[in-house]
Amino acid sequence: MPGFEVFGAEEKQHVLEVLDTGVLFRYEFGGQRNNVYKVREFEQAFARYTGAGHAQAVTSGTAALKVALSALGIGLDDEVITQGFTFVATWEAILDVGAIPVFTEIDTTLNMDPADLEKKITPKTKAIIVVHMLGAQARIREIKAIADAHNLPLIEDTAQAAGGRLDGQHLGTFGTCGTFSFDSVKTMTTGEGGMCITSDEQLWQRMSEYQDHGHDHAVNPGGRGGEGRSFVGFNYRMMELQGAIGLGQLAKLDGMIAAQKANKALLKEAAAAIPGVSFREILDEEGDSATFFAFMLPDRARAQAVNQVLRDNGAGAINWGENSWHFYPSWEHLLGEKTLCANGWPFTAGGKRRFHYDRQALPASAAIMDRTLCYQVPVKPAPADQAALLAALAKAAKL
Ligand SMILES: *Cc1c(COP(=O)(O)O)cnc(C)c1O
Repeated sequence: MPGFEVFGAEEKQHVLEVLDTGVLFRYEFGGQRNNVYKVREFEQAFARYTGAGHAQAVTSGTAALKVALSALGIGLDDEVITQGFTFVATWEAILDVGAIPVFTEIDTTLNMDPADLEKKITPKTKAIIVVHMLGAQARIREIKAIADAHNLPLIEDTAQAAGGRLDGQHLGTFGTCGTFSFDSVKTMTTGEGGMCITSDEQLWQRMSEYQDHGHDHAVNPGGRGGEGRSFVGFNYRMMELQGAIGLGQLAKLDGMIAAQKANKALLKEAAAAIPGVSFREILDEEGDSATFFAFMLPDRARAQAVNQVLRDNGAGAINWGENSWHFYPSWEHLLGEKTLCANGWPFTAGGKRRFHYDRQALPASAAIMDRTLCYQVPVKPAPADQAALLAALAKAAKL
């Protein structure tokens, strides 16, 4: 959760350049901005870094998902398949375009199980959102092959895995498009912010127009009011200050990942001595962004006993089975169909229920989550904290 650990002179310099012009808006103000276009520069740098042809900056990772779904033409009553272990944002974006989230099991990659994905595809399926959770790769090649076989667009929610790769290729560039988050706890951060990347220029063009009220950014006689609009959009524009911070952070991303890898290796070495331990399946260690370290015990009871020792020693791990934000059975507002909308939308329409979720629907995922423990990997851990954590793991190894 590292981006803020390394703020420094670079971010400040970029931000000051923006404040010196007084222009916080990413478009227009040609006479005043002294050729400072931080958001545009950030998009170009991010596209270059990932190897994607095009990048579109937006206000958040959640907005990035919604912009991607909208640009792909997803809407009312379409089914979009994602995994039952993710941040709530993934399915919030699906609901927000009027579509219906369908959840798959995860496997020991802690990401989408391709076999279960096959089973969940129906004639109503219109897109797949695979998530690279906890910094590391989903089985993206298998999943892309399934998407292609069914002629379905594939979005990679790469919010937690910026800078992650598989066999040297950046995560987010395997599917139709990739989305990223730069919120305040992500590997690189702009406070709030997000990005969509794609190699499909037409798709990028639709994203660009949608996130700015439909403006086509082509000819603009008399300013923005003179631009064309070919469809209705919304406002998900990133502001210049965020673009400025993003440029500073992106330049540091590979360095942050290298530091995380070194810190993660220490944790893994210490945890390896715990009897019965196994590790999350990482498809390519080299391409792991190492933002998290996840390990498994043979069963739930054993995982809880180990975590009790870790807690007693001041270093409790995250047990995703208990965590209320990232795993399906704990999404009580979704499962309980809680909404602000007086007419029941999105759970009901015209008085009829549109979908319903069974809390027990993902037993294979629950079995994995219950026995998985996890730590966030810092970039620059305080030496005392690091030592305490390693000592706690050593205690657990004697259990
Ligand atoms: C953080 C996150 C998001 C949403 O990003 P925001 O910028 O916070 O809106 C989406 N998906 C996943 C997997 C995330 O972790």
